[in-house]
Amino acid sequence: MTLNNHTKKALESLKSSPLKTTKQRVDIIKILFSDGNNHFTAENVHNKIENLGLNISLATVYNCLNQLTENNIIKSVKTSCNKIYFDTNTTSHHHFFCKNSSTLIDIESKNIKISKLPKIPNGKKLDSIEIVVNLTE
Ligand SMILES: [Zn+2]
Repeated sequence: MTLNNHTKKALESLKSSPLKTTKQRVDIIKILFSDGNNHFTAENVHNKIENLGLNISLATVYNCLNQLTENNIIKSVKTSCNKIYFDTNTTSHHHFFCKNSSTLIDIESKNIKISKLPKIPNGKKLDSIEIVVNLTE
């Protein structure tokens, strides 16, 4: 199996992170990054794992996704539904979220302009703004 550049970069990030390079983490990264930039839930990833005949429990998938998120190899996206989505695109960007199909679509950060923000509380500084635009059919 040849690895695409997204996968190679993610595996490099894993090696330089404090996480150990275990077979399970490598397998999960290969699945996540096989289509380049992608959004998925832990259940989506677990289904793919089962389809490939691998044996990794859903709890392990959750733990792995959370560890990869903590180490900035992927990121999490909070939507208006109670599921956490994970995103292989760790750059700052926004999303459309379609409630009917439960899908996320990227919006480039340059395509949303924030024209007014409240004053940032003393001692704090702006870290990031990420917007989810909810859609229905
Ligand atoms: Zn995204």
